[in-house]
Amino acid sequence: MSVEDNIIWNRCKKCGFLQHSSHLRCMKCKSEDFNKVKAEGNPKLISYTVLKIPPAEFRAKASYALGVVEFENGVKGLGQITTQNNLKTGMTLKPIYRKICESLDGKEVYTHVFEPV
Ligand SMILES: [Zn+2]
Repeated sequence: MSVEDNIIWNRCKKCGFLQHSSHLRCMKCKSEDFNKVKAEGNPKLISYTVLKIPPAEFRAKASYALGVVEFENGVKGLGQITTQNNLKTGMTLKPIYRKICESLDGKEVYTHVFEPV
């Protein structure tokens, strides 16, 4: 597995709060000391929405589903779901790292998407 295959969150060393790695300080106690936590196992779908008017980058698609998922160890992820059919909250998905679109200046954009198991 390459680094890109992993979704990494931070767990606060002081209070144990788990949060997205984009935050520089713990949202609970303001500590800046973290342990890296990798997403583990297959996530469950917490909520999703279907975007009928996608942003310009996703112009190749008429619509797509966007979901919030939670992994077995509490790490959460946000990403496109590979289908819009038969989605149910609580269902198990598997993460896949792949190209999802080309940006407006023609660069390929890679990220995690989620596929029903
Ligand atoms: Zn904390």
